[in-house]
Amino acid sequence: MAQTTPNHTQTVAGWAAHDSSGNITPYIFKRRENGVNDVTIKVMYCGICHTDLHNVRNDWGITMYPVVPGHEITGIITKVGSNVENFKVGDNVGVGCLAASCLQCEFCKDSQENYCDQIQFTYNGVFWDGSITYGGYSEMLVADHRYVVHVPDNLPMDAAAPLLCAGVTVFTPMKDNNLLESPGKKIGIVGLGGLGHVAIKFGKAFGHHVTVISTSPSKEKEAKELLGADDFIVSSDPKRMKVGKRTLDFILDTVSAQHSLGPILELLKVNGTLCMVGAPDKPIELPSFPLIFGKRNVKGSMTGSMRETQEMMNVCGKHNITCNIEVIKPNQINEALERLARNDVRYRFVIDVAGNSAANL
Ligand code: NAP
Ligand code: ZN
Repeated sequence: MAQTTPNHTQTVAGWAAHDSSGNITPYIFKRRENGVNDVTIKVMYCGICHTDLHNVRNDWGITMYPVVPGHEITGIITKVGSNVENFKVGDNVGVGCLAASCLQCEFCKDSQENYCDQIQFTYNGVFWDGSITYGGYSEMLVADHRYVVHVPDNLPMDAAAPLLCAGVTVFTPMKDNNLLESPGKKIGIVGLGGLGHVAIKFGKAFGHHVTVISTSPSKEKEAKELLGADDFIVSSDPKRMKVGKRTLDFILDTVSAQHSLGPILELLKVNGTLCMVGAPDKPIELPSFPLIFGKRNVKGSMTGSMRETQEMMNVCGKHNITCNIEVIKPNQINEALERLARNDVRYRFVIDVAGNSAANL
């Protein structure tokens, strides 16, 4: 049990990977005492994001082991610091990807702290006190209140957990591209996984025509009947891809693996935009012809700010948007990660950290 940071006196039980095998085992570690700006959270649920898989396996070459993953956290506040006014003991709250930022740069001052160049993440980051951050695969979390949001009362804490990353990551580019209040656009979602399935729900809630572009024909029925997609294109079907040419205003690419953007860009109208949120470890192929012949735009987006995260939670509360989840016990994390790697999840695993769900009774 590594412990070198002063004031990290609280012993916490969690689950960590110790090397690039990605194998997760129980892990006891220390967290800081609850500071004046902090809240302490009893973790109830934590979603398993594909980013957790990238990190435990060191896909991006940046993992600091041992890593306690988890940035789709819901829980209950058990303690608040003396400077904290907007949370109280007993509140249902969520923590997403962000743990700290500089609080002073143009982005922090403009509520875009997710683009602060000193941004630190909920796990595999370095907090202000120099300690390595540990995420939500753990029973308790201490978080600065500026990086915590309220979970609306009507949302179940388990199916709301993945909203903290998957939800805000797809909400923000839609907002950024004026899709929240301009219904009737044709949008495409590439990759029907954790991020993709929430993106369909937002797209429909905002009144758009939603087309899924997928490598998995087996997902078509559910995409349409369960999630509300209007159309479904299997990307390996050249005929369907041809019919779809120049039909979409906006595409959100959530794919976790290397792929070519060429055929996908062809689906955009002239001047259309593709926003990349998927984070494959190898460069994606970006041929110039579909770009220049259609005057098309390619951009990226990184999670969302805290203000956008709260806005997204409120929108989910209003429209009753939650995630389609498979709840697992902590001792099933490795199996879940294996299944996620095999693209075998409908559509998000959520760890029942506190042992509350029926499956654990
Ligand atoms: P996920 O649940 O595994 O979904 C990814 C989907 O991509 C799969 O369901 C699959 O959809 C498709 N896919 C997988 N392998 C593919 C391949 N070889 N070729 C084409 N399509 C493939 O993952 P997720 O949790 O949604 O995360 C997706 C990506 O977003 C990850 O790279 C993650 O790190 C990244 N991410 C980024 C941010 C950000 O801030 N930008 C935030 C969270 C996550 P089909 O079966 O439909 O093809
Ligand atoms: Zn994530």
